[in-house]
Amino acid sequence: MQDFLIVGGGVIGMMTALQLGDAGHTVTLIERGVCGREASWAGGGIVSPLYPWRYSRPISALSSWSEGRYPELAGRLLEETGIDPEFRQKGLLYLRVDDVGDALAWAREVAKPLSRVDARTLYAKAPNAAPGFDSALWMPTLGSIRNPRLGKALRARLATMPGVECLEGREVRGLLREGERVIGVDTAGGPVLGGQTVVCAGAWSRSLLESVGVALPIRPVRGQMILFRTPPGLVERVILKDGRYVIPRGDGRVLAGSTLEEVGFDKRTTREARDSLYASALSIVPGLAECEVEHHWAGLRPGSPDGVPMIGAVPGLEGLHVNAGHYRNGLVLAPASTRLLVDQLIGCEPIVDPLPYQRALAGSSPI
Ligand SMILES: Cc1cc2nc3c(=O)[nH]c(=O)nc-3n(C[C@H](O)[C@H](O)[C@H](O)COP(=O)(O)OP(=O)(O)OC[C@H]3O[C@@H](n4cnc5c(N)ncnc54)[C@H](O)[C@@H]3O)c2cc1C
Repeated sequence: MQDFLIVGGGVIGMMTALQLGDAGHTVTLIERGVCGREASWAGGGIVSPLYPWRYSRPISALSSWSEGRYPELAGRLLEETGIDPEFRQKGLLYLRVDDVGDALAWAREVAKPLSRVDARTLYAKAPNAAPGFDSALWMPTLGSIRNPRLGKALRARLATMPGVECLEGREVRGLLREGERVIGVDTAGGPVLGGQTVVCAGAWSRSLLESVGVALPIRPVRGQMILFRTPPGLVERVILKDGRYVIPRGDGRVLAGSTLEEVGFDKRTTREARDSLYASALSIVPGLAECEVEHHWAGLRPGSPDGVPMIGAVPGLEGLHVNAGHYRNGLVLAPASTRLLVDQLIGCEPIVDPLPYQRALAGSSPI
């Protein structure tokens, strides 16, 4: 029997498995499809909350811990797997921000480089940005990761770890309970038992936990994105305007996102969203009108009431833990949120105060 069972092979499940494996524990990760192909694939890969000064302290605490870890993680995965997750740190330009005062005050408080720049600096950094802006906010340290490649690299790394087993194509149908203890999971291929079970099933976590009478307020929030094939150099850094963004990849391609839609577990793309994303992208970089839209997709974010993920042990049931509900910031928060749970699982001093992430769990009483 393995020390840990992890349900869900998104970025949260895979980073949890990686750290438990690194610490010498045996792990079985169970994924109903292929690891890293749901929200963790569909996201944009910006590794900062979009407007970080508008977020609560629990999110800021995890995001500032995480941000500094990405260069090292990407470097490690490249070395160990040959797959480059393409961490790029080319900065972010904010166009048209209403609460500049709040943004600058936040930056001073957390010692983050963020400044107001004039039009000359703005267009020197982004010559193809839409004309007519007389200033912007500039965050030079903003990084992004090519999340589909991050998922691929994590999956490849886990496959080489002797203590880690990944069962793909195995749907978990429910959690197995013996009295007040969760002893494993029920899958289409039969039961799998483990010492501790960790649910990292993203937007689908709620229904899994309902199988043992735990009610967590996690819901799917659809996000659609489009991808342009562009000439090299058209967009060099992330640009954000009115909540929509363009993100350049290393090969010149540019992503534009994203929608926020409450449509349940419906992952279809829509013409309306495509047109709206296209219009937003052109209002940021008009030259995208000359470029082909190569791809359009949707993913389901694991939405939670205030965007704060639920991390920790489920009270009232031994052997059951959760790490889910990262909403718009799963990639941003993953290094810290998975480390925070792993610290608790293996009895280490937690990196940040775990309480804010346990509040929703405390209200989710097992029947
Ligand atoms: C359009 C869009 C843009 C985004 N942009 C960003 C961004 O720029 N930056 C950022 O930080 N975040 C972004 N996000 C959010 C981010 O992608 C998510 O918060 C994050 O990927 C959640 O990771 P996860 O591992 O919890 O969930 P997922 O990646 O969805 O993984 C959950 C896994 O669990 C598996 N699973 C579910 N049920 C079962 C079951 N019963 N049995 C077995 N396996 C199961 C699923 O198949 C899936 O692989 C974006 C999301 C979207 C959709």
